Amino acid sequence: MTKRALITGITGQDGSYLAELLLSKGYKVFGLRRRTSVPILENIEHIQNDIEFIDGDLLDLGSLINAVRIADPDEVYNLAAQSFVATSWIQPVATGQATGIGVTNMLEAVRLTKPEARFYQASSSEMFGKVMETPQKETTPFYPRSPYGVAKVYGHWITVNYRESYNMYACSGILFNHESPRRGIEFVTRKVTDGVARIKLGLQNELRMGNLDAKRDWGFAGDYVKAMWLMLQQDKADDYVISTGETHTIEELVDIAFSHVGLNWRDYVVIDQKFVRPAEVDLLLGDCSKAKEKLGWELEVGFEQLVKMMVDSDLERISKLK
Ligand code: NDP
Ligand code: GDP
Repeated sequence: MTKRALITGITGQDGSYLAELLLSKGYKVFGLRRRTSVPILENIEHIQNDIEFIDGDLLDLGSLINAVRIADPDEVYNLAAQSFVATSWIQPVATGQATGIGVTNMLEAVRLTKPEARFYQASSSEMFGKVMETPQKETTPFYPRSPYGVAKVYGHWITVNYRESYNMYACSGILFNHESPRRGIEFVTRKVTDGVARIKLGLQNELRMGNLDAKRDWGFAGDYVKAMWLMLQQDKADDYVISTGETHTIEELVDIAFSHVGLNWRDYVVIDQKFVRPAEVDLLLGDCSKAKEKLGWELEVGFEQLVKMMVDSDLERISKLK
C-alpha cells in the first residue's frame, strides 16, 4: 500500500530534499505550507505538481489538525521552524512560538487525530551550544546559547515527553549543520558561496562577515534527510545524532570557496561587528556512531565537495541573472 507522509517546512531546504526522497520511494507526499503574498516555491518548483499542499501554520493548532486529517499520514516530519540563529535574538518570542511551542502544536495534532502516525522532530546541534563535552553525542547535556537553541531544547524534550507519556512513535534527530545549494542565503555557507560567485562575476567587491574562528560540523542536506527517513523505519522510536565527525573553521570554509574560483579570500573579506553574535557557539563536532550502527546511515558528500558544489551552483545561478 502507498505510504503517506506529511512534511511541515516543505518549502525549506530539508523539506525539498526529503520530499524528493519520499517521492522516489513511492510515497504520497503532503506539504504544509503557510500562506504568503508571493509563493515561495524556489526549492520545490521542480516537484510541486507531485506534492499535495495543505495550508497551515505551526502557530495555529486547528490548521494542523486539519492537515493531519487530510493527509492521514503514516509518517509526519516536523521540519518547520524559525531556523536562523541570528534572527532569534531579534525575534525571540516568535522563535519560541514557532520553533518551540509549534512542536507541541504538531504533536497535539497528531495525538488527537492520528496517534499511530510516526513523528520526526528536527532537533539541532545548536542545543549543545556551549558544549559540555567533545565530540557531542546523544547523551551530552544541552547548554543552548541563543533563543533558537533554547526553543529547540523545548521542542526536543516535548517530543521525548510525548513518546513517554502517550507511547507515540516520536523521534528526534539531533542534526548538525547541513547545507546545499538550497540553503537559506543568510546562513554562513550560502552567504560565502553566493558572495564568492558575485565577486568572481564582478558584481560585488567585498564580503562582510562576523566571527571566522567558530567551528562547525557541516554535512550535505541530501545525505541528512536519508537519516530522517531511516529513524522512522525502526522497531522502536529513539533519538540520534547525525553529523560528519569533522569540524572546520569559518575561515577554512571561506578559504576553500575563494580558492575554488582562483581568488585569495584575504583580498575580499571584511570583518563587520554587525555579524558577530551576542553569544557564540564556538565548536560543534558530532559523534554519530549510534546512527551508523543502528540505522546503517552513511554520508556520501564530504566538506570540500560540498563547498565546491555550492560555489558552482551559485556561479551558474548568478551568471544567468547577469
Ligand atoms: P529552512 O529555514 O530552510 O526551512 C524552514 C521551513 O519552516 C520553511 O518551509 C518555512 O516556511 C517553515 N516555517 C517557518 N515558520 C513556520 C510556521 N510558523 N508555520 C509553518 N511553517 C513555517 O530550514 P531547514 O530546511 O534548513 O531546516 C529544517 C529544520 O531542521 C528546521 O526546523 C531547522 O531548525 C532544523 N535544523 C536545521 C539544520 C540545518 O543545518 N539546516 C540543523 C539542525 C536542525 P516559509 O517558506 O513559509 O518561510
Ligand atoms: P548556525 O550554526 O545555525 O548558527 O549557522 P550559521 O551558518 O548561521 O552560522 C555558523 C557560524 O558562522 C556561527 O558561528 C556564526 O557566528 C559564524 N559566522 C561568521 N560570520 C557570519 C556571517 O556573516 N553570517 C552568518 N550567518 N554566520 C556567520
